[in-house]
Amino acid sequence: MAIYRIVKIGDPVLREKARPVPEITPNVIKLLDNMAQTLYDAQGLGLAAPQVGVAKRVVVIDVGEGLIELINPEIIRKEGLDTDFEGCLSVPGLRGEVQRAARVTVKALNRKGGEVKYEGEEMLARCFQHELDHLEGILFVDKAQNLTKIK
Ligand code: ZN
Repeated sequence: MAIYRIVKIGDPVLREKARPVPEITPNVIKLLDNMAQTLYDAQGLGLAAPQVGVAKRVVVIDVGEGLIELINPEIIRKEGLDTDFEGCLSVPGLRGEVQRAARVTVKALNRKGGEVKYEGEEMLARCFQHELDHLEGILFVDKAQNLTKIK
């Protein structure tokens, strides 16, 4: 396994629309494994493949409830609204308030190619929406209010 370099705002890959994964190859498994290791190394909550320079629809998330791996994820249900602070490993030193759906259901493929569904609320719902935005080339700063510097 390896830790990837996390690309920062200004890198064009963060603004690309990521491509669907057509087939789960050993390279996709390696990408998932290395992204998880990179996420834990950086002590983040979520990481999307464009953040490691790979414009593919792959996301890893761990909000403290175990690792979630998502291939070709889609939000299939959104409910309610919630506004809270967010940051991003690709936008160091900034946080801001973003309005998101309060509860979402995500459909994706797992590493075996099986369909999985996750329901998330609070931090997990926010994380799903933040990471899936990365797959569209959207960063939280595009949507945030009250952007403030943190050390
Ligand atoms: Zn992010």
